[in-house]
Amino acid sequence: MPKRSFRVGRSRTGLGLFATQPIKKREYIVTYRGRRIANAEADRLEARGSRYMFEINSRWTIDGSPRWNIARYVNHSCRPNAEAIERKGRVIVYIARRKIKPDEEITVDYGKDYFDAFITKSRCLCVKCRERRAERQAKYRAKLKRAAKRKAATRKRRTAKSAAKAAPRKAAARKTAGFRTAPRKR
Ligand SMILES: [Zn+2]
Repeated sequence: MPKRSFRVGRSRTGLGLFATQPIKKREYIVTYRGRRIANAEADRLEARGSRYMFEINSRWTIDGSPRWNIARYVNHSCRPNAEAIERKGRVIVYIARRKIKPDEEITVDYGKDYFDAFITKSRCLCVKCRERRAERQAKYRAKLKRAAKRKAATRKRRTAKSAAKAAPRKAAARKTAGFRTAPRKR
């Protein structure tokens, strides 16, 4: 058995697989293990909440639910550093798409069907999606800031105008004030 180059650890979505040493591009990482079942059975299990079905082809799926299938801890990313390939004998393995550094989380793209059904664009916690949302939020905040500045500027102009309008009234008030202080002279 080849030496392990990963560990299971805490990730943003629960548990994840992390590199413990540098992994070269195209290097083998882990095998997706499990019982091979017919796609119809996989559909039934998936309908009951199973999330570790790896479809090999139009007939067969690997049920990767058991915890001894370490590959099940590999989380999805829209910008993955690993990918699944089929080896002889309908064996699915994950290999590095690029160089992976120690402590980097190992991720694969789960594919469009899974993504649309269980993850969705608004809830995906991968680096790419978090960056995309952060960028959008920064843009939104900047927009709010600009709007607030514009509002403050018009408010200033408006108060300047109303102050000019209010000025004659103030002068009038002072006249009546003169009248009210007059009795004190007595
Ligand atoms: Zn994503």
